[in-house]
Amino acid sequence: PGKECSWQIQFADDMQEFTKFPTKTGRRSLSRSISQSSTDSYSSAASYTDSSDDEVSPREKQQTNSKGSSNFCVKNIKQAEFGRREIEIAEQDMSALISLRKRAQGEKPLAGAKIVGCTHITAQTAVLIETLCALGAQCRWSACNIYSTQNEVAAALAEAGVAVFAWKGESEDDFWWCIDRCVNMDGWQANMILDDGGDLTHWVYKKYPNVFKKIRGIVEESVTGVHRLYQLSKAGKLCVPAMNVNDSVTKQKFDNLYCCRESILDGLKRTTDVMFGGKQVVVCGYGEVGKGCCAALKALGAIVYITEIDPICALQACMDGFRVVKLNEVIRQVDVVITCTGNKNVVTREHLDRMKNSCIVCNMGHSNTEIDVTSLRTPELTWERVRSQVDHVIWPDGKRVVLLAEGRLLNLSCSTVPTFVLSITATTQALALIELYNAPEGRYKQDVYLLPKKMDEYVASLHLPSFDAHLTELTDDQAKYLGLNKNGPFKPNYYR
Ligand code: NAD
Repeated sequence: PGKECSWQIQFADDMQEFTKFPTKTGRRSLSRSISQSSTDSYSSAASYTDSSDDEVSPREKQQTNSKGSSNFCVKNIKQAEFGRREIEIAEQDMSALISLRKRAQGEKPLAGAKIVGCTHITAQTAVLIETLCALGAQCRWSACNIYSTQNEVAAALAEAGVAVFAWKGESEDDFWWCIDRCVNMDGWQANMILDDGGDLTHWVYKKYPNVFKKIRGIVEESVTGVHRLYQLSKAGKLCVPAMNVNDSVTKQKFDNLYCCRESILDGLKRTTDVMFGGKQVVVCGYGEVGKGCCAALKALGAIVYITEIDPICALQACMDGFRVVKLNEVIRQVDVVITCTGNKNVVTREHLDRMKNSCIVCNMGHSNTEIDVTSLRTPELTWERVRSQVDHVIWPDGKRVVLLAEGRLLNLSCSTVPTFVLSITATTQALALIELYNAPEGRYKQDVYLLPKKMDEYVASLHLPSFDAHLTELTDDQAKYLGLNKNGPFKPNYYR
């Protein structure tokens, strides 16, 4: 610590900018042996290689890459070439990371960094991992979800020399074994953690607390992982600085609002072939995700109703031209019900009983608690799996409700997530790692931090060339008038 890197973005401003984010209330129990995020189905970048193509566990196989290294464990190293093509396709829409690589050609802001990572292993994260390597880091990587690994991408990373331990369809035991293989390595000790869900951090705390002596920081992406970090911090047990990437503005706006706007229709259409023009849809929750979903539905000519508990969001819905109703008022007439509240039991058995025949029910919120799916597991109802991720639940009178992804996140389970959105998150993660790794001693204490606004702005600016967007520069006079530095930050930290 203490090394200042000239490559680092120049932060004109000081520590005051590094606002700590208030502790969030938990949404989930943390007392589980395997994280829910690690089991939530996530096929966004669906692997074309089937995990059942060969029954031998990767743990039993002896594999080496073309350079003779066997420092990895993937499904099948022979898929590397195919995986490389997938990574190259992803690179095309992740130009911000590529420009980071170019900028760092002379200097390596992550030289000496030994990053242990646990994220989804997809073509997009491969672009992130390879960027970190290009910036000078050594990486060891496992998957944060037992279903989401693109086997061919993991193979391509292993072929390129990354120590990757992941395959699609890991067991719970495999999951922790892979994490352990990343952390527990003779002659190699991590000094940075990049986590998505908090399982890796949890494992290091539980099994290898001494590793924290060398760790300069943790970068965490998910709501759950961030919540765990705040809990540790509150209990005085967080022993290194941590960066909450989840709550950075660029992440929230793009992941929640724009990503859902782009993917809600895709998920619904792939599963049901539904036409939206003139359909009546009720969206529960008009937060970022709800706003994104509604914008897309409205654009296709659907009649959209909103339910809300918060008067401000309800008023926003009114201003945007939506009818705000109670679910009971419309439940008999709607064709589609979409939950995006982050809450539980928003759609109850009573609602499900009253829905009309063929009503489609799905969830865009984080966990599968929004629709009371358990209440549908009763003897009088028949479940029929009609397609992958599509169940017909049939009432004794023949009425069917079309339940998608068993109430789990629709877009992550049934459609793809735009690479560009993932690029923004990945760029934020890369910059958070650079910042924590290079921060002078004392800038960050043993606490959870939000990315400085200036870095958020930098993430956005790296994405502007994709659109040939031209920013206006403040004149000296204007900067003085607004009390701003000409190079930003342009907004206060609380601005969303
Ligand atoms: P948000 O807090 O901005 O919005 C949620 C809204 O739901 C709030 O306005 C709240 O008032 C409302 N609400 C809460 N309980 C309600 C109830 N019983 N009935 C009606 N409204 C209710 O959060 P967000 O950013 O929109 O995220 C919502 C959920 O989606 C979270 O669980 C989040 O983790 C998840 N998420 C999903 C994706 C995705 O790709 N599908 C992406 C990001 C976030």
